[in-house]
Amino acid sequence: MPVMIKAIFFDLDDTLLWDQKSVKEAFRATCKLANERYGVDPEALETAVRTAAVQLYSSYDFYPFTQMIGINPFEGLWGNFLDEQPGEFTRMKETVPVYRREAWTTGLKELGIDDREFGEELAERFPVERKNLPFVYEDTYEILNTLKDQYQLLLVTNGSPDLQNTKLAISPQLHPYFNHIVISGAFGKGKPDPAIFAYALSLLSLKPDEAIMVGDNLRTDILGANRAGIQSVWINRHNHAGNEVIPTYEIRHLSELNRILAKINRNANQM
Ligand SMILES: [Mg+2]
Repeated sequence: MPVMIKAIFFDLDDTLLWDQKSVKEAFRATCKLANERYGVDPEALETAVRTAAVQLYSSYDFYPFTQMIGINPFEGLWGNFLDEQPGEFTRMKETVPVYRREAWTTGLKELGIDDREFGEELAERFPVERKNLPFVYEDTYEILNTLKDQYQLLLVTNGSPDLQNTKLAISPQLHPYFNHIVISGAFGKGKPDPAIFAYALSLLSLKPDEAIMVGDNLRTDILGANRAGIQSVWINRHNHAGNEVIPTYEIRHLSELNRILAKINRNANQM
């Protein structure tokens, strides 16, 4: 029997915050310095550093933890992981300065430039640029404003609490919209584990059919919601092909949520 939706769970990165654009622009700004110094093609350097970073990141013993919590290699290029949780976060904190330097130095080397000192300079510049370049989608505040009085809003985000809170601190208008902010690194398990969705529901004393999850990632947001028995909305802004994970709804623009919620709630009222 259809019931009224009482809460909306939102993913953060690339659902409300345009993280991929921030990363891209931070690379562009940092690689420009290498172009000025050595005349290298900035795009080629970006590709080389991304490749080196992905390879190096996957070699660390904390890599399985980053996958379970949901922290990608490019977050490692600017996150500090000053998290209170002991264990893997401490090792990440100790390792990331070396990781960043190696990724940038290796990227430069791929383009024939052997300059460790400059690699370190770029490695330190990238986090500064990333912090200076937060992007929020144009429809983010619009939808949050239309929903905030009618629904409880939760952020359910994968990542390091320190880094996710840094992202919220540099886009400070977002935080006040949310009744709760659930961060996988603090909870101990990340999406798609249904436990984090069950925890989010428990914060509001809601049943799975009283919430709906909105996110851009089929493998985490949508799969996890499906496993937890929560309806899901896949925000597919860039018209990506789907996979075997089937969302309840698919949208291109966050404003389409209004139509979906109205439909669900209309059906509930007719019962
Ligand atoms: Mg996301």
